[in-house]
Amino acid sequence: DIRKVEFVGSYDDKEEIWPRTNLPEIAFLGRSNVGKSSMLNTLFGEPVAKVSKTPGRTRKINIFKAKNGNDKDVCYFADLPGYGYAKMSKDKQRTIEKFLGMYLERRSNLKLLILLADSRREPLASDAGVLEYAEDKEDRLYKILLVATKVDKLNTMESVVNIKRLQEAFELPPGLPVSFSAITGQGKKEIWSYIRQAAAA
Ligand code: GDP
Repeated sequence: DIRKVEFVGSYDDKEEIWPRTNLPEIAFLGRSNVGKSSMLNTLFGEPVAKVSKTPGRTRKINIFKAKNGNDKDVCYFADLPGYGYAKMSKDKQRTIEKFLGMYLERRSNLKLLILLADSRREPLASDAGVLEYAEDKEDRLYKILLVATKVDKLNTMESVVNIKRLQEAFELPPGLPVSFSAITGQGKKEIWSYIRQAAAA
């Protein structure tokens, strides 16, 4: 029963100042420009995450919290920095990867990692790498959900082919990835149901 989502703050790798909570957290991760901010805005129903004009600028973790009808905090959301931005120096990219690794390792209330892949593109080695890395984290308590973004840009035929291609490349079970569009709202309900399940577990 989420009524409101509030911005908590932006955080770098100084773990000491990350907001402490035992409430479940749901994190969003993907290549820069994959449509992550647009997805957050669609899911939360208000523009809470800036849709980037200059890709690759967010290098911090933006944390949000959700409240129920009684104004009680129910869960947290983390908008993780986009990776793989081509114009970013290799050094900066490595710094971001380390930061992401640290988040996955340390954030013990993380329940669900939503990994975004662009439905128009061939499965990318970088996305496969991140997925494998996130899956292989020792003692991980979080689940991983793969979402294919911008499906409104594909016709029916293309979307069938591309979704199947992602499913095979990332070895996903039937029904995955979830197809999503920030334009039509397709997939919004389904993603919310995964979020609810993860937050309740
Ligand atoms: P981020 O860098 O991952 O946060 O990506 P943004 O949400 O800023 O989106 C990057 C670009 O893709 C912007 O120009 C968006 O308008 C566009 N975009 C994002 N989601 C969708 C979508 O579902 N459909 C379409 N057609 N465009 C999208």
